[in-house]
Amino acid sequence: MKNIRNFCIIAHIDHGKSTLADRLLDVTNTITDREKQAQILDSMDLERERGITIKSHAIQMDYEQDGEKYVLNLIDTPGHVDFSYEVSRSIAACEGALLIVDATQGIQAQTISNLYLAIENDLEIIPILNKIDLPNANPEDVKDQIVDLIGCDIDDILSASGKTGEGVPEILEAIVARVPAPTGDPKAPLQALIFDSEFNSFRGIVAYIRVMNGEIKKGDAVKFVNTGKEYQADEIGVLRLTQEPRKSLSTGDVGYIISGIKTSTEVKVGDTVTHRDNPCAKGIVGFAEVKPMVFAGVYPIESEDFEDLRASMEKLKLNDASLTFEPESSMALGFGFRCGFLGLLHMEIIQERLDREFDMNVITTVPNVSYIAHTKKGDKFEMHNPSEMPDPNSLDFIEEPFIRAQIITKSEYTGSIMNLCMSKRGMMTNQQYLTSDRVELTYEMPLGEIVFDFYDKLKSISKGYASFDYFLIDVRPANLVKLDILLNGDGVDALSTLIHADNAQTFGRRMCEKLKELIPRQQFDIAIQGAIGAKIISRETVKAVRKDVTAKCYGGDISRKRKLLEKQKKGKKKMKQIGNVEVPQKAFLAVLKLD
Ligand code: GDP
Ligand code: MG
Repeated sequence: MKNIRNFCIIAHIDHGKSTLADRLLDVTNTITDREKQAQILDSMDLERERGITIKSHAIQMDYEQDGEKYVLNLIDTPGHVDFSYEVSRSIAACEGALLIVDATQGIQAQTISNLYLAIENDLEIIPILNKIDLPNANPEDVKDQIVDLIGCDIDDILSASGKTGEGVPEILEAIVARVPAPTGDPKAPLQALIFDSEFNSFRGIVAYIRVMNGEIKKGDAVKFVNTGKEYQADEIGVLRLTQEPRKSLSTGDVGYIISGIKTSTEVKVGDTVTHRDNPCAKGIVGFAEVKPMVFAGVYPIESEDFEDLRASMEKLKLNDASLTFEPESSMALGFGFRCGFLGLLHMEIIQERLDREFDMNVITTVPNVSYIAHTKKGDKFEMHNPSEMPDPNSLDFIEEPFIRAQIITKSEYTGSIMNLCMSKRGMMTNQQYLTSDRVELTYEMPLGEIVFDFYDKLKSISKGYASFDYFLIDVRPANLVKLDILLNGDGVDALSTLIHADNAQTFGRRMCEKLKELIPRQQFDIAIQGAIGAKIISRETVKAVRKDVTAKCYGGDISRKRKLLEKQKKGKKKMKQIGNVEVPQKAFLAVLKLD
């Protein structure tokens, strides 16, 4: 136990976490040349393309120093706010954290939010200035920022380059010297923290665990404290480049357990594994049920694909417990599912996986956050869909989730960022200069406003020089109304949104304008109207046109005409027939791109 070191790496995206992790594996000979491939920790294709680590993994390294042998467990953490609960559980499995800061970028929003999590869990922080090989590195300034942020001594900061390998041996030395060995009682009843899990189509669910107390042996009868379910530890082992079975895992160890579980929902991140016959007194603190925060309808483009879509969603759910879905129907879109996601990135990932892995062509409706409706009768319930909004006579009030957002930017952009945040109903609670030209702004704002195009706008007005992170703080009363869109007089439920009353007028107008751009002309006029209850607040018209695509073709070139007709038919597939109006897929997300 005294020669084990469990640590994670926290960093803002692109500051070099994966590259440095690879280097550590390299220097400790954990990967052979043959196995070496760039960014080994990011194993999903999607992850690699996006350059972000979506699912956390762990890997064990052997390391020798002064004749003493050490076992180093690196626990990788997902960097995105959508997965912050998983990050917190990974951090809880460690005693130390490498805090990586890009020497050209300085401290960014995610650096800070992940650091807070690490500090809350009493982790030993090893600050590392990375990318020092770059000519535009600014080591002195960035070191000052780090000292300001964590209050360390300037000499405690290591300098490294994941690219050239410079400074990497010193990082390993510091891990051994500064990260405390695990504590805990090997004789106590078993208490192991599940910090992640993964679905394997042959083995079922593989749970990643950190043993906090006691010992687990292959074949033990175990119990998961929070779900109350009992299993047998069919296989346990450690995580090298592959899973390596072991006979036992003891206090301080990081490894995996396979116990014949087939669905992801039975294995909850943060749960505690103990022995059935000699259970620990209580579970490890910090367990929470992950709750989806963003909801959207997902509909097949062809209604006959509904059952296929259900099958695909069920498969996705097997390895992603945080995805929720239940059938719903829409007048406009037919049968589909109301899905719950951890956040917008998670929603995008699911949409992309449906497309890539299951070849499912879907329409996703405007996402909304989860609101709490209070009725005059004193009932309260969560609304995941604008259609669940009670009618004004029975509604008492609505509450919406609020976040605390941190934005770090160059001072020249603060003015426009403040305007943006104000337009999103944000209230500034703090403004702090990190250096003479870098500012940290703290805002409290409704999560519902972030769901729309906030991040894209922030990026464009700051020319990319703003980083942003947030966490949920509470729910607050909100004056929301339901805005409906009518096409030729018929309401299109899938286009309804809940919106703050003060913004409804402008929003309705822009929505109609945007839909006018997106809905192609047809053989009759199409009236697009925005309405709150029975009151029409905006209107646009798409003028009729007689659309004859073959008219452009001169002469009797039949094959060319046929091709054009084929093309038109295909084009139609991306349309959804609503009443007598054809609406293109992207219209359902028009609201996200209003400017
Ligand atoms: P992550 O998002 O924190 O995992 O960052 P990555 O490890 O994926 O690195 C982001 C980008 O920075 C990649 O293009 C890397 O090649 C590059 N990079 C990482 N570390 C270094 C470094 O030390 N020096 C230089 N010059 N580039 C680096
Ligand atoms: Mg990465």
